[in-house]
Amino acid sequence: MSDAAHARHEAVIGLEIHVQLRTRTKLFCGDTVAFGGAPNTRVCPVCLGLPGALPVVNALAVELAVRTALGLGCTVHETSRFARKHYFYPDLPKGYQITQHDEPIATGGSLDIRRPGERRIRIRRVHLEEDAGRSLHDRFDGCTAVDLNRAGVPLVEIVTEPDLRSPAEARAFLDRLKQTLQYLDVSDCDMEKGSLRVDANISIRASGGASSGARTELKNLNSFSSVERALEWETARQARAVGKGGVVEPETLLWDADRGEARSMRSKESGSDYRYFPEPDVPPVSLSADLIASIAAALPEMPAAKESRLRASYGLPAGDASVLSADRHLADWFEAVAQQTGDGKASSNWVLTHVLGWLNQRGLSINEIPFTPARLAELIGLVLDGTISVTAGRSVFREMAESGKNARDIVAARGLAQVRDDEQIEVWVDTVVARYPDEVMRYRAGAAQVFGFLMGRLMKESAGTADPRRASELLRRRLDE
Ligand code: ADP
Ligand code: MG
Repeated sequence: MSDAAHARHEAVIGLEIHVQLRTRTKLFCGDTVAFGGAPNTRVCPVCLGLPGALPVVNALAVELAVRTALGLGCTVHETSRFARKHYFYPDLPKGYQITQHDEPIATGGSLDIRRPGERRIRIRRVHLEEDAGRSLHDRFDGCTAVDLNRAGVPLVEIVTEPDLRSPAEARAFLDRLKQTLQYLDVSDCDMEKGSLRVDANISIRASGGASSGARTELKNLNSFSSVERALEWETARQARAVGKGGVVEPETLLWDADRGEARSMRSKESGSDYRYFPEPDVPPVSLSADLIASIAAALPEMPAAKESRLRASYGLPAGDASVLSADRHLADWFEAVAQQTGDGKASSNWVLTHVLGWLNQRGLSINEIPFTPARLAELIGLVLDGTISVTAGRSVFREMAESGKNARDIVAARGLAQVRDDEQIEVWVDTVVARYPDEVMRYRAGAAQVFGFLMGRLMKESAGTADPRRASELLRRRLDE
């Protein structure tokens, strides 16, 4: 898009996000939920849609949906209902999807993003629905096969208001949403396994003005960067169409990540095309105020709250708190270290630099770390109290991480403890003063910078083990005699 078109138009974006809830079984039957596996092995009369089969709602799915909704600040309704949404597709054996329509489980929440100022994005609704099966187009020549293992897997759909104003903002929202869902522990949020799927609605309007109306919906967005790219592409396409005096047709577009373009899939269905009607076989979901309150009381601290608490309680700079709180487990790990060392900033430095560096090199997550926070805290303590130097600390860290041994044992075995014994340090002072008489004379004649050279010799003489602070005191005392 040209700069001029950018200036004239602004994007209006709303997202619909499907999140697979981490239940053991499906939404309306006891079939196991798992990724992959032989096709059509986790199916039963209910998810196959056989006549006479009766769906029964999975209580854990309901609870996780409530957790999701409360975490997004929504109002959870004591009564919600399921409906049938009809459409014909080979992977939909019943000919309809059981979803929530005009009485969803929750409405009216919000999520704040930082861009860089705070922006509040409203959440219109959160509802429960079952997933469809999967069409496999690559198994047999010219045929499409259907795998119904995924049919009936529980999803929540999260629908935003059209409050997002740029593709980058949509991306920031998705990052924040994923982080929030991970904090809530309602889903593994793994996009590669389809646990988190995004559809994006977009229209353009004159900057700050009223919407020009028609919007399109982008599907087949397999990563957050695809969402952002597809929205960039579609903003430009709509701006060109309007710029040429044309109109944007409401339609559903499929994003092709390899070609970097979208193509039309169909003109957009309206609600009436689905012939929604109440699901007669599933009674309304009825939640007591007490149950909702108890789920609310058990919610974890949310990312933004954790971030500000880390800053306040441990005196951390904003950057540290933001990285540490990106992952709830990382933040917990850091806190365990900091509580033991009593030094927040030093603990944060060690976790952000050494722990994250070590994990990143190995492609590991904080949950896979082979040593405990207490082990790292012990090592940090040895550096803070001067038992070992910072340099020795780094090397002890590597050995500790690889071998699982504790820091004290490594320090003892490798003789890394700093020497703070005056008698021993005086021996090194004697050696250096005797070996460099010219430098000593120059220092005494006023060349203060020679001190650094002599100090370097002393450290070398001690093979790096002299406690630098004490060594420098004793050397200076001797030279100033
Ligand atoms: P439908 O009833 O067709 O599903 P909704 O009005 O419920 O449409 O909105 C579906 C999604 O489209 C929501 O995420 C919403 O934010 C988004 N949306 C609504 N109006 C617009 C618009 N003018 N431009 C972009 N997105 C929009
Ligand atoms: Mg939907």
